[in-house]
Amino acid sequence: MKVCIIGAGMGGLAASIALQQDGHQTVVYERVSDLRPVGAAISVWCNGVKVLARLGLLKEVERVSGQMNRMSYRKWDTGEVYCDFSLLPLYEEVKQRAYPIARAELQRMLLDANAPAPIHLQKRAVSYSTSQDGITVSFEDGTIETADFVVIADGTHSKLRNQITKAEIQRDYVGYVNWNGPIEMKEFEGLISSDNWTQFVGEGKRVSFMPMSATHYYFFLDVPLPLSSAPKRPEEYRASLTKHFGHWHPTVQKLVERLDPSKVARVEIHDTKTLPTLVDLESGRALLIGDAAHATCPDLGQGGCQAFEDAFVLQQLFREHRVSPASASAKPDVEVLRAVLRDFQDQRGERTAELVLRARKRSGVTHQLGEPQETLDWYEELKTEDGTGIMRGMIKTILGAPAQ
Ligand code: FAD
Repeated sequence: MKVCIIGAGMGGLAASIALQQDGHQTVVYERVSDLRPVGAAISVWCNGVKVLARLGLLKEVERVSGQMNRMSYRKWDTGEVYCDFSLLPLYEEVKQRAYPIARAELQRMLLDANAPAPIHLQKRAVSYSTSQDGITVSFEDGTIETADFVVIADGTHSKLRNQITKAEIQRDYVGYVNWNGPIEMKEFEGLISSDNWTQFVGEGKRVSFMPMSATHYYFFLDVPLPLSSAPKRPEEYRASLTKHFGHWHPTVQKLVERLDPSKVARVEIHDTKTLPTLVDLESGRALLIGDAAHATCPDLGQGGCQAFEDAFVLQQLFREHRVSPASASAKPDVEVLRAVLRDFQDQRGERTAELVLRARKRSGVTHQLGEPQETLDWYEELKTEDGTGIMRGMIKTILGAPAQ
């Protein structure tokens, strides 16, 4: 079967690799002219790692990722440790470690694994149309591509999403801004432990140091702020972060002083409401995956992991419904493809919608976006946390995942 994939992000590439494993012919179309990762790193939680393992990438992921053995929360000004616990019981229970990884490394790995499938750059998809024989994607430059099936993985600003949902989907601003980047671990020797995901919290803000490799932390600083139309100017990042964190713990101030603004991404965090559907049942030939399908705020670290799960589920459903690989003579039966889409909606709709809502709720508490007392209560709760409560939610998410 020929599958056209729109978007060469984590979701699109994972889908392309997964379908190629079964002999399908995939071709990826990507809007940008130069594939560069956006953001410094990402925490791939155990459910995402399990998918990467199925794609044959586990060894490489283990080799380049950070060793995150513990997790701790500290008070924003004094640095008092609210809680500090081992993540090993979580990893043991779900039988897989989590891996924070540089986005550049992850992208390189996915691109290598995707070869030899072609990736066509500077091809912005604008719409698709279907016939009895197939599906045709139209690009902004006037060209078209015809395939048996289309995987739409064009991210949170998806151009093709509205065609699937038959409704105008808007992104919603969650209410906080995230600055993230890499910083050398040696700068923080004696201040932070290099295998510990350390977070300073207070005033509805959060500052996080996560080991993303043997040498670097992935840091991020979250501040609840109104949405701004001001352009992103890296030369102004240090001054605005000093305004927000100048009175915080010396370790946080050191981060603000030492970070390299040219390597910092500033992101206004958005998500999308549950879509009416993720699949085009009418044609039987297209579906949405990844952020195009369920953009979420990063408060559970699950956006990319869910994109991986989508790719895995699609592969499994093609197998279950015996959608056969490339063959010019045997066109896939559209009724079979419809059955795949129905099952995809059943298996992915509820799970991803629930995670988006949970992340939104978590974000509200962490960033003091709702009832202020809730956030103050959370700071108090952290003082009595031995890790069990925090890991319980993570274990539920991971054990409920499709790839085990
Ligand atoms: P994208 O990565 O956005 O890829 C979409 C691709 O499609 C892009 O390359 C784009 O150029 C291309 N494209 C767009 N339009 C078109 C078009 N019309 N035609 C052709 N190509 C097109 N997730 C985690 O799992 N763990 C984390 O720790 C985590 N942390 C995060 C921190 C932050 C600050 C943010 C913002 C997100 C975080 N996420 C995390 C979420 C994660 O980054 C996303 O869920 C993930 O990147 C989604 O992948 P995707 O392939 O669906 O979309």
